[in-house]
Amino acid sequence: MAEINADAAWTVEGYDVDAVRSKYKQERDKRIRADGPNQYRFISRDGDLAEYVKDPYVERIEREPVSDEVEATVIGGGFAGLLLSARLRQAGITSLRVVEQGGDFGGTWYWNRYPGIACDVESYVYLPLLEEVGYMPTEKYAKGPEIFGYCQMFARHFDLYRDALLQTRVTDVRWNEDDGVWIVSTDRGDRFRSKYVCMTFGTFLHPKLPGIPGIEDFRGTSFHTSRWDYEHTGGDSYGNLHKLRDKVVGVIGSGATAVQCVPMLAKDAEHVFVFQRTPAIVDVRENRPTDPEWVASLEPGWQRARIENFSACIAGEETDVDLVDDAWTRVFHHLRKTRPVTGSQAEAMELADFQHMESIRARVGEIVHDPVTAEALRPYYRFLCKRPCFHDEYLQAFNRPNVTLVDTHGKGPDRVTENGIVVAGEEYRIDTLVYATGFASIRQDLKTRLGYDVFGRSGQALSDKWKDGISTLFGAQTHNFPNFFVVSYFQTGVASNQTHPLDEMAKHISNIIREARDRQATTVDITEAAEDEWVQTVISSSTASADFLESCTPSYYNNEGQPDLALFRRNGPYARGILPFSKLLAEWRSSGEYAGLEFE
Ligand code: NDP
Repeated sequence: MAEINADAAWTVEGYDVDAVRSKYKQERDKRIRADGPNQYRFISRDGDLAEYVKDPYVERIEREPVSDEVEATVIGGGFAGLLLSARLRQAGITSLRVVEQGGDFGGTWYWNRYPGIACDVESYVYLPLLEEVGYMPTEKYAKGPEIFGYCQMFARHFDLYRDALLQTRVTDVRWNEDDGVWIVSTDRGDRFRSKYVCMTFGTFLHPKLPGIPGIEDFRGTSFHTSRWDYEHTGGDSYGNLHKLRDKVVGVIGSGATAVQCVPMLAKDAEHVFVFQRTPAIVDVRENRPTDPEWVASLEPGWQRARIENFSACIAGEETDVDLVDDAWTRVFHHLRKTRPVTGSQAEAMELADFQHMESIRARVGEIVHDPVTAEALRPYYRFLCKRPCFHDEYLQAFNRPNVTLVDTHGKGPDRVTENGIVVAGEEYRIDTLVYATGFASIRQDLKTRLGYDVFGRSGQALSDKWKDGISTLFGAQTHNFPNFFVVSYFQTGVASNQTHPLDEMAKHISNIIREARDRQATTVDITEAAEDEWVQTVISSSTASADFLESCTPSYYNNEGQPDLALFRRNGPYARGILPFSKLLAEWRSSGEYAGLEFE
């Protein structure tokens, strides 16, 4: 726990701001590509590159199609679906079906099992409903298997396996006006009725491959990090990749996933080549086991208080203490609390940003021995142009004799061949190729992203309604789609701890459904006027700035260097943040008026 000095002001004497700006611009310009977001190879489950998205973890279980009726259906069994289902159970919904394409609950924690996987948001705030479920994580930053195990425990606790359809993909959701129900169809031939349907989105749902020619030519073993091939590597998420001892491994990518799996590969592979396009921001992590004395000191309600404190610290709100006290809260505290000594607030923020990034670059130099490698690993862009990473073994791995950084100077490899990877005309021969190249952006068109469409009143398709931008009330409902709810990051409160807004949405939606039940309403919809007003509120709350987005090095944060500001504002979050958003929802609920809703 750290005391907060609310008057912190950073001084910047001797700092050559113009030189830093110019260096950032130079590095960004190297990476700008005309094809922007279209540079990637998107993987289609049924066609192109389908082997890269096959589920390597379970055998397909055959079953008969279902054709029954349930009260509520939740599409997606990741944390959004888990939280929503839990809150629906608490609201008294017993007839509840989760439909999930994976073989179990967990979402991103089901698919991502690569060695070294962990969550770098503190587990005591990230794992939701710990007090309700009766669990305490074993470490400050829980590893993937523990989180995946918690998802299963959570599903058992709220009795979600009953009626769930796993290994099942929704193909169509259609409103039947005559009967006042939704008809849900799936790829298993199911066709069942549901009074309420709740859709979750999945931020990291569709793995993507780099747009490098020759991917199909490679003769060794290759896979994406979200479908790790343990048959080939041996070991598990904790390491011991013993089958790689005589293998040369190539990793394409150097984002948050690569930062976690490269140190594990380095321990076991004969050699590891990391093909880097842009270096990540790698801050300290300082993981530690959960302290039993601290656990014994906790009072009921501790988790809610800690979650809110974390979000308040990240938002730079006035708080007396920083309960989480880690690299996340410390950096946001400095960035948001910075006050200008001279000049404008924006300039002061930029200087604080420069200073923080300077400390990140200095850390590289302190850890990495070879000066050329160290320089290549220094990130030259503003904090929050990319998702920051936290790790205490990644930079260290480049001091090992069996790890080589292949810096592609912002361009990426030229091509993949039968035997390896070519960079600047030189072929690196490899046996195993790991694509740590991330996921399709949430800005992908709706139908491609979800793999199904939703047809509301008069047969209107959701993909059509939202083709020029999303329109909702509180991110949760959209007009003319009665008894239909959405949990996503669009038009809702934003937070670094992603389960915080998910739970706020889950509470909001379950409250509306309970109210509809109490009123014995057949349908609950929202008015067009309420929807329009919320869209305007979201747009006007936005702090997205064209200058900032365009000056950033490309990433999925700025649509790979091609930001569409109007769409960012509309399809973005309610930018005042998760705590004001939660307060707004709580006040809306407690008034009892349910303004903007139509119960019939
Ligand atoms: P990212 O999209 O963050 O990173 C993809 C990487 O692939 C980048 O380094 C990118 O380079 C690189 N790349 C893409 N194309 C090429 C190419 N042609 N040649 C070379 N490199 C290429 O994906 P991740 O899977 O790393 O992370 C996705 C998200 O998952 C994160 O942003 C984070 O939100 C989440 N995550 C969270 C974790 C946690 O602890 N909570 C842990 C891991 C992931 P470039 O930067 O140049 O585009």
